[in-house]
Amino acid sequence: MSNIIAIVGRPNVGKSTFFNRLTGERAAIVDPTSGVTRDRHYGTSDWNGIEFSVIDTGGVVIGSEDVFEDAIRKQVELAMEEADVILFMVDAKEGMSPLDEDVADMIRRSPKKVFLVANKVDNSNRSADAIEFYSLGFEKIYEISAINGSGTGELLDDVVREF
Ligand code: GDP
Ligand code: MG
Repeated sequence: MSNIIAIVGRPNVGKSTFFNRLTGERAAIVDPTSGVTRDRHYGTSDWNGIEFSVIDTGGVVIGSEDVFEDAIRKQVELAMEEADVILFMVDAKEGMSPLDEDVADMIRRSPKKVFLVANKVDNSNRSADAIEFYSLGFEKIYEISAINGSGTGELLDDVVREF
């Protein structure tokens, strides 16, 4: 099946939580702590009657900074190969991290459509915290809460338009 969305980003930004929201696979793995090794996770979903697959690029390895970055790099490269649309997720609650900049550098070279998604915007106060991510150089920031669902409809409207 085509119409493939990959969710990429550093650990703990909420990729698996959003994956679960999309696919309804409540049993999928959400880690309260980062740095745990997980395999890639595939599911399916639909929005306004348009079906798509979702890849949760969970796999991250405990180890040195190098190993860590390497694991993320591998996930991002696979996502760029496999997916039609990439959701680059960052964490508005924690703010910008050097790993976000690393992922942005990898993704900038992708010919695929990339959406920058600031997660954990659970309330309007946190919306201001998402602004710093404009420095990553993307035109638009989609502010969402994977936990309460706010902003996810607007994001998916624009995502399925790419299919
Ligand atoms: P992943 O490592 O990127 O897959 O992140 P997870 O989905 O495992 O989530 C990491 C942590 O962030 C968990 O404790 C989640 O409950 C929490 N989290 C995920 N989405 C949100 C959100 O929208 N708002 C808040 N406040 N916390 C979230
Ligand atoms: Mg995960």
